[in-house]
Amino acid sequence: MATKWVYMFTEGNATMRNLLGGKGANLAEMTNLGLPVPQGFTITTEACTQYYEDGRKINDEIMAQIMESITKMEEITGKKFGDKENPLLVSVRSGARASMPGMMDTILNLGLNEEVVEVLAAHSGNPRWAWDCYRRFIQMYSDVVMEVGKKYFEELIDKMKADRGVKQDVELTAEDLKELANQFKAEYKEKIGAEFPTDPKEQLMGAIKAVFRSWDNPRANVYRRDNDIPYSWGTAVNVQMMAFGNMGDDCGTGVAFTRDPATGNNGLFGEFLTNAQGEDVVAGVRTPMHISEMEQKFPEAFKQFKEVCKTLETHYRDMQDMEFTVEHGKLYMLQTRNGKRTAQAALKIACDLVDEGMRTEEEAVAMIDPRNLDTLLHPQFDAAALKAATPMAKALGASPGAACGKIVFTADDAVEWAARGEKVVLVRLETSPEDITGMKSAQGILTVRGGMTSHAAVVARGMGTCCVSGCGDITMDEENKRFTLAGKEYHEGDAISLDGSTGNIYDGIIPTVDATIAGEFGRIMGWADKYRTMKVRTNADTPADAKKARELGAEGIGLCRTEHMFFEGNRIDAFREMICAETVEEREAALAKILPEQQGDFEKLYEALEGNPVTIRFLDPPLHEFVPTEEEDIKKLADAQGKTVEQIKAIIDSLHEFNPMMGHRGCRLAVTYPEIAKMQTSAVIRAAINVKKAHPDWNVKPEIMIPLVGDIKELKYVKKFVVETADAEIAAAGSDLTYEVGTMIEIPRAALTADEIAKEADFFCFGTNDLTQMTYGFSRDDAGKFLDAYYDAKIFENDPFAKLDQVGVGKLMDMALKLGKPVNPSLHVGICGEHGGDPSSVEFCNKLGLDYVSCSPFRVPIARLAAAQAAI
Ligand code: ADP
Ligand code: MG
Ligand code: MG
Repeated sequence: MATKWVYMFTEGNATMRNLLGGKGANLAEMTNLGLPVPQGFTITTEACTQYYEDGRKINDEIMAQIMESITKMEEITGKKFGDKENPLLVSVRSGARASMPGMMDTILNLGLNEEVVEVLAAHSGNPRWAWDCYRRFIQMYSDVVMEVGKKYFEELIDKMKADRGVKQDVELTAEDLKELANQFKAEYKEKIGAEFPTDPKEQLMGAIKAVFRSWDNPRANVYRRDNDIPYSWGTAVNVQMMAFGNMGDDCGTGVAFTRDPATGNNGLFGEFLTNAQGEDVVAGVRTPMHISEMEQKFPEAFKQFKEVCKTLETHYRDMQDMEFTVEHGKLYMLQTRNGKRTAQAALKIACDLVDEGMRTEEEAVAMIDPRNLDTLLHPQFDAAALKAATPMAKALGASPGAACGKIVFTADDAVEWAARGEKVVLVRLETSPEDITGMKSAQGILTVRGGMTSHAAVVARGMGTCCVSGCGDITMDEENKRFTLAGKEYHEGDAISLDGSTGNIYDGIIPTVDATIAGEFGRIMGWADKYRTMKVRTNADTPADAKKARELGAEGIGLCRTEHMFFEGNRIDAFREMICAETVEEREAALAKILPEQQGDFEKLYEALEGNPVTIRFLDPPLHEFVPTEEEDIKKLADAQGKTVEQIKAIIDSLHEFNPMMGHRGCRLAVTYPEIAKMQTSAVIRAAINVKKAHPDWNVKPEIMIPLVGDIKELKYVKKFVVETADAEIAAAGSDLTYEVGTMIEIPRAALTADEIAKEADFFCFGTNDLTQMTYGFSRDDAGKFLDAYYDAKIFENDPFAKLDQVGVGKLMDMALKLGKPVNPSLHVGICGEHGGDPSSVEFCNKLGLDYVSCSPFRVPIARLAAAQAAI
């Protein structure tokens, strides 16, 4: 049977999201529920994929089905494309499987031409409306289909408004709009070199192709990468009869959530704009009214809408985000979806839904996007400092969080300043999808225009970035990069703070404090812990990190990079003496200075972890990373060693390597300088013995991890010193301490020969940062230079250092497990690369059967939740 490429709304349902996209599936579902949905059809995501496969062409079969569906739609609506009596106007809307708000394109009022607009004007007795639709259509079609660029049209509108001495679009008359439509068409002809298309079917095909094309636009590609949406999914296209919110004052359009997307509070939340069309609310053309005001102006439609909300929430068992339009007092539903929400709101809503009996605990855990938790784990304003500060202005708290930084005025500046380590706050009249990378780089976003559902607000909430929107008090001068607020002029680089919860704006920097897990956050994490099977450890290098991670729920340390401890205080001096030693004696003398420092640190780590396992990795990086570069430091080192500056410089030169990442590092250091490993062993064991003495009820059992092993013999060789030293320490102390010696699996050869390595190792820990770079053969420090080109060419969809390459690196992990476990059944296995905190990688690790993931302290809750979701 031939493939079905097109579905009428009456033929689909909510379970068909993969095929119909989220919007299409839900339009069908709402139709099935008997809700007032303007009818139409959905062209499937498979048709989009096919379009790309066919070299960006819509093939005959798909074309035929579209034409057939138009006929059906004409029958259902009683209207006809291009008709002189009752013309059909439609919207052409994108809709992917996962919602990508504002990323792709929509065209409204399609089907209009010079004749049809006259018919509409005459038959409706409302020429203003007819011409408003027409000028909007030309504008959107030119922008989306022909990529003429919005700004030319906006300039024409601004000029028209200035000529007529009016401020708002709604004040323009039918005549004005008619003239605008003509100007737009002229603009189109000038830019494109052809007449604006008049045949509705030709317009429709152009629009459908444009939606397919928009799947591949740069901002959609960036959005997908950030949100883990595969390129291969494609977008569906919805063709839907228009409902008109711009026919007069008994019409309007709105966006609403069944619960507050910022706080999660249960209650209708949204905005409504009279005499307007869809995009006006989102684009911030005029500031809309609060949804509650709709009750007075449109009592009937409002009552009906409240009922629809209840129906939808009960049906989907989740907070809904809806678009609707009121045409002459009658309600039409245009979209519903599970609403995007802040992390805070997500937690509250999930808990409330459990309490309301709508969801189980497991479902509540599954509802939270682990990546969103990030925002809650980031600093909040210091309560005392906040209380003491006086806001200089207040606008809408559009996306919660605390942001402080230097003012920048363009998205590009935000990216540039952030890249050089500045914290910035992006201040703009309003944002548009082009600004997305800049918004990501900023600590916070402040806009002059736009409501709670404006582009800035929606995108910021999605990214978990603090946003304050609609600050009309600002007098903005974007061109000269300055604005005035509360009587003060602000320039690029001036400091400002935003509170995304209250909408308060402060002059200067307000100090921030770390976040804690409490309330609903704690409840959800409790449920997550109940349902997960994989443990979550942390990568912590200092006692302070370890303490933080423990507070955030870490059940052990999976990786302590000992070398990071050497940058504290003046410890680096002794370390440099060790590096620049020329004899074993010199080296041992330096190591003797380091030993008590390390031991002290390790004791604090064991204390912080309260008897949970602590894996300590022995010295790993190439030594040249630690040598002094300043003349003064070199002199100091020379003096300490009783050497000349020249001698020290010669030693430093001798440490130079062509490819340090594949050079003298990891266990190779222990092979050449066993005394380093011996010293570290003594420090680990002595610390453990002391802490065990102080806390006899704790299970203190050190895990010593030898890095960068590629050959069993390397491990054997180093392990021998470690065991001899450890056993001697334990015997000397008369202790019964036990310990483990394991290795990182981070060189492909180690994974390939894991059956041999498992004979000597008590545990494996996948060091997937190195394993990724060694498997791919490119350096993680240099990959940034070409990854963008790889994204553009669709070779990579993600950064393999952030999201585990499950196909290649994952196969090595799987192999290592399958080879290692039978040889050593008590082998425990974890992961400690950056991937340990990435939700999809955590899910993969759970599937492989790892015992634990280990990640940076602030990612611990994310990993706990992701591990629970993997287990549910
Ligand atoms: P997005 O995914 O960016 O929200 P949509 O396809 O939902 O894009 O459409 C953009 C705007 O146009 C929305 O406000 C929507 O409600 C409105 N709209 C879309 N189709 C219609 C229609 N058939 N009648 C009236 N308004 C519509
Ligand atoms: Mg929409
Ligand atoms: Mg490594």
